[in-house]
This record gives sequence, structure tokens and C-alpha cells, in this order.
Amino acid sequence: MTFDYDLFVIGGGSGGVRAARVAAATGAKVALAEEYRMGGTCVIRGCVPKKLMVFASGYSEMFADARAYGWDVTEGAFNWPKFRTHLHAELDRLEGIYRKLLASSDVAIFDARATLRDPHTVTLSTGQQVTAKHILVATGGRPVLPDMPGADLGITSNDIFLLDAMPKSILIIGGGYIASEFAGILNGLGVAVTQFYRGAQILRGFDDEARGLVAEGMREKGVDLHLGTNIIEMRAATQADLDGQTEGTPMEGGKPVSVPGASAGHGIWVKATNGTSRVYDQVMFATGRAPNTDGMGLDEAGVAVGRRGEIVVDDYSQTKVPSVFAIGDVTNRVQLTPVAIREGMAFVETVFKGNPTKVDHDLIPSAVFTQPELGTIGLTEEQARDIEPIEIYCSSFKPMNHAFAGRSDRVLMKLVVSKATRKVLGCHIVADHAGEMIQLAGIAVKMGATKEDFDRTVAVHPTMAEELVTMKEPVRTA
Ligand code: NDP
Repeated sequence: MTFDYDLFVIGGGSGGVRAARVAAATGAKVALAEEYRMGGTCVIRGCVPKKLMVFASGYSEMFADARAYGWDVTEGAFNWPKFRTHLHAELDRLEGIYRKLLASSDVAIFDARATLRDPHTVTLSTGQQVTAKHILVATGGRPVLPDMPGADLGITSNDIFLLDAMPKSILIIGGGYIASEFAGILNGLGVAVTQFYRGAQILRGFDDEARGLVAEGMREKGVDLHLGTNIIEMRAATQADLDGQTEGTPMEGGKPVSVPGASAGHGIWVKATNGTSRVYDQVMFATGRAPNTDGMGLDEAGVAVGRRGEIVVDDYSQTKVPSVFAIGDVTNRVQLTPVAIREGMAFVETVFKGNPTKVDHDLIPSAVFTQPELGTIGLTEEQARDIEPIEIYCSSFKPMNHAFAGRSDRVLMKLVVSKATRKVLGCHIVADHAGEMIQLAGIAVKMGATKEDFDRTVAVHPTMAEELVTMKEPVRTA
């Protein structure tokens, strides 16, 4: 049987684009369909614009720091429309690069939605049908709103980058990466940020000590973080809410407790599990993401979908249908761009280079761009002590640049070490540029370095990271 293409990729995000390009480089005839913008979540509405907003928000603290260091500066105001215009120009530039890379790799681009018709055929929203020997689904995920009255009044991380104006106040629901990162970003940009997390501490799954320090730092910088708290109900604010006449609206000095900027017909009235109700300018849900599998024709093609809507794949990213593979967030394995890219490369290695390659999902370093930032690899103290006897090496201190500027922020450098093998099982850093540090510490941990290997490495002085190689005694064993 002859096909139109050797490979048809559905989805132009980081994983799909990389797989298409690398497959085409093997001489395969490749096409890719994208229904929205090339670049996907990471480039268009995720990592890239988020990180640029992290940079923008960081400047608010720099005025005070600069003054402490002897500069004569006065604080200016953040101009959101100016930043947003520059941001979108940058995203357009990056999207252009993605398109050029595909075109120069001889990948045919279809600006259309593609769905599966059968194991070798896709139907495009243009009505066209295309056949391929292999189909790779890389459609990513999308934010989900909780099922509660009025939830559609809220926004998600997708909407933040497109806002006409910065809200004066915002309530962020969730305690994961996205909620905690945007709490810091918006706080830094001058928005009054309240964050509700239903659990006991934000960033579930990360090292407890690191989570605690991140939460403490966020609060110190001004985020009004409420733990064990969730939203029950929300609706458009009425004048009565603003006048404090709604039952349950807390009053202070005869005035309703509302946050700046709320106005009738504009703000959102929110009732919380802690018994309070307040009006916010915006409510943002960061309550998790769902794989983009709806209406994809997966059932028709015989591709199995799991309980959370994810495409079920084996270690080689192959679905139950031998010609159909899936990579990235749509498989709900590890929702990180570099992981999707690796999965794409392993797929090409397996299918187009005859070298069956499993994706290695073990010991993935990652960073959470909260303020303060968190970098992490390997086991948390809590996970490790359930597996084997461990030693904890830990140092928490005020770094010299913060101490000089009169800031209270502390940093954390922590190693989780196996008593038996001496291997560093986990490394957790809370500090400025923790993401940069963990990329490098991650190499050592991935190589299986022992605590003694760390100790043999001469300190780089004066840095924060030198603590990683100078911690002599464990602070505790477990
Ligand atoms: P997460 O799964 O990390 O967090 C979702 C949060 O929402 C959790 O705190 C969860 O609480 C809470 N939640 C879920 N449902 C509800 C509900 N009905 N009511 C109230 N709270 C709820 O998802 P994110 O959307 O933050 O991020 C998705 C993924 O994207 C991450 O897992 C990560 O892999 C990736 N990402 C990575 C980044 C990075 O590398 N820096 C940045 C941003 C995203 P609970 O803990 O109780 O379940």
C-alpha cells in the first residue's frame, strides 16, 4: 500500500515540530498539521511568555536593591500594554522561526485541524484526507476549569498573556506550578494577589522543606496565600456586594472588604470555604491541565484513551494501533517541554532509524519559576526515607546580595544522600537562578555522583551554590 506521507504529525508544539524535523532529516516524507499557532503551549502560551513575564516582574524588587547598592533610582510604573506588544512581537518572531525550520526541513505544513479517520488516514478541517504510514499525535493539553457555578467567569493561564489591562486584584486558585508561578509574576507586576490552595502546602510532590520556603518567600513578597482554602461559588459582582450588603461579605470599619479595583459589573464575587466572600477584579484557575484528545477520532481509529483522557502508549510512545504513536502532554506522562522533545526524538530513533529507544523518564531535573525559584532533581526527603536509610545535608541562609540589600529572603541548598551507597538521591535548591543551578547539579545526580564526589569538587567562591560542595555534617538522618 502506498501512502501520501511516511509520517503525519498532528500538533505543532515542541514535541511535534522536533519529531517532524528529525524524521524528515532521515529522508522520510513528512507533513504536520497545526490548527492554531506553530510553537504550541510552550512557545505561544506557556514557558516562553511566562518566563518573559517572570523577568518583567522581577524588576519591581530591583529598584529597592539598586538603591541599597548606591544607585540613585526612583521607582517607575509597569506599562502592561507596552510589555504585551513587545511580548507578542517576540512570540511572532519565534513562531516564524518554527515555521522556517519546518519548511527548510521539507516538512509540508497544513494550517488546519487534523483528526484520525483510521490507522493510516487523517481528515483535515479543510475537508482533505491524507494518508500516512505512521501518524504521530502531539496535540498537547489545555487548562481545565473546575465544575462549579460561575467558573466560566474565571480566566486561565491561556488568557493572561492577552489581557487588555492588568487587573488590580486577582484570586488564583490552585497550588501547582502554574498557580504558584503566576502568583509571583502578578504580585511582582503590582497586582494584589490572593492565592487559594485546597491542600496543606503548595507544590504538592516537591520536597516539603523547599515547598515551605517557597511559600514563606511568596508571602514575604506580598502574595496573600491561603492554605486549606478553596472556592465554593462565584458570580459577577453586584453593587450590593461592593456596598457590603450581601450576607457574608466581611466588613472592616463600616466598609466591605474588597480588594482594589473591584467595581460593579466588572469584579467577580467569590465565596470561599473559609466562610469569607470577597470581590476580585479577576479570578484565575490553575487547577490542572487535560490532554487534548476530545473529538480527535481516536475511538474510531481504535486508539485507547485513559481515565484522564490521555492517549495510552508504551515505552516507545506507541499506541495499541501499531501505526499510531503519541508524545508529549497528550500522553500525560511528564508534562514538560524537554520531555516531549525527548519523546519525539526517541520515536524517530525507533521508527525511522531502526534503533528501538525507550524514553528515559528517570531523574528529570526541573525548575518552578516561583519567586523565590525552585530547582529540583531526584527524590524528595519524604520519598527517599520511605525507600532506604538516608542522610540530609541542608543549608538555609541569607545570600550576600540579599543581606547587603536588606532583604529577608533566605535560600535553601539541600542534598538527600543514601546511607548505603552514598549516592546523592535528590537535590533541591530554592534561590535566585535555582533553575540554572539544578541543570548543572542534575548532570552529577544523573551520573550517580556520591556525596563524596560533590565534596571532592572545589567550591566556586563566593557563590550560593558552593554550599552544595561544602556541607560537612548531615543535619539529620532518617
Ligand atoms: P498541577 O497539576 O501542577 O496543579 C494543579 C493544582 O490545582 C493543584 O494544586 C491541585 O490541587 C489544584 N486543583 C485541581 N483541581 C482543583 C479543584 N477542583 N479545585 C481547587 N484546586 C484544584 O497543574 P498546573 O496546571 O499548575 O500545571 C500543569 C503541568 O504543567 C505541571 O504539572 C507541569 O508539569 C507543567 N508546568 C511546568 C512548568 C515548569 O516546568 N516550570 C510551569 C508550568 C507548568 P492538589 O494538589 O490538591 O491536587
